[in-house]
Amino acid sequence: MKGLIYEGPGRRSWATKPDPTIEDPTDIVVRIDSSTICGTDLHILKGDVPEVEAGTILGHEAVGTVVETGAAVTTLAPDDRVLVSCITSCGRCAFCREGHYGLCTGGGGWIFGHLIDGLQAEFARVPFADTSVHKIPDSLTDEQVLFLADILPTSFEVGVLNGGVKPGDTVAIVGAGPIGLAAILTARLYTPSRILAIDLADSRLARALEFGADAVVNNGREDAVDAILAMSDGLGVDVAMEAVGVPQTFELCTELIRPGGRVANIGVHGHSAAFHLEKLWIRDVTVTTGLVDTSTTPRLLRLIAEGRLDGTPFATHRFPLADTMAAYDVFAAPEQTGALKVVLEAEAAAPKAKSVAEPIGATA
Ligand SMILES: [Zn+2]
Ligand SMILES: [Zn+2]
Repeated sequence: MKGLIYEGPGRRSWATKPDPTIEDPTDIVVRIDSSTICGTDLHILKGDVPEVEAGTILGHEAVGTVVETGAAVTTLAPDDRVLVSCITSCGRCAFCREGHYGLCTGGGGWIFGHLIDGLQAEFARVPFADTSVHKIPDSLTDEQVLFLADILPTSFEVGVLNGGVKPGDTVAIVGAGPIGLAAILTARLYTPSRILAIDLADSRLARALEFGADAVVNNGREDAVDAILAMSDGLGVDVAMEAVGVPQTFELCTELIRPGGRVANIGVHGHSAAFHLEKLWIRDVTVTTGLVDTSTTPRLLRLIAEGRLDGTPFATHRFPLADTMAAYDVFAAPEQTGALKVVLEAEAAAPKAKSVAEPIGATA
């Protein structure tokens, strides 16, 4: 089969590997129908995630069809359509028993495209299948559920739930890339009074307004602290979410919150950030961090099935799976391409061939 292979820092290829097979009785093998690329994949390609070995197939987000099940798999059968999520759960360790699948110590957690071959491929082996994949109702398209594999539960759990967004809160979201936009979308489930988005790019701020932000601040042109305080009675916001992953945006979040406010960090950080305890110790603030557990995926899936949540606007570009190399080029240059998420569609499974590599929908 073919897959997108990490060849070491700065190098990737669309190349052949042996078809995956059942290795453990709790495995399934799926044919990948739709997959997508994550900012984390770009970090891996930069060499920022050194535990990823050269030769590994990347990708941790997909919709697929079961082709084979291991002897111990009891809830899945060939031809079942499943969401393969970025997090795998052994179902038995202490963390999994508490729903903290992201912290799994039994061989799960984030393993696809990290510790084992991932999902940007024609087929994939899925460990701990009974406790890790989600069956998809026939009424939903791949694209309607694909972003449940990572960005929607990540923003919802690590941003909205960790941040404790409540009805009537004023919420600031720093960073309006896919994760920040997903935070806007899922924060709205809790009816905040206002959602304020902050970014350096006007194009991303325009997207933020489309996704439901009430006001935006370009912090390249104006002082975000002054602007946000002016929009929040001079006291600051109830919840600030960090959705970039650099020290400056985390530090900005700690300046935007009112006394008693909450900072929820979603971004992936590679450098230390200043934490101004000398200012914050008296302000009753809460700061949270975390990796997604995907424990809310069934809940988000119900909202999508009932039309109360729609992730399809994230799909700005579509490519045949075989053109994954070209899809990376588009995804890696969002300033030029406007890409949010690129959908990789397997030929046989695609209901119809869409125009290739052309922006669709969301910009209209
Ligand atoms: Zn991801
Ligand atoms: Zn576990």
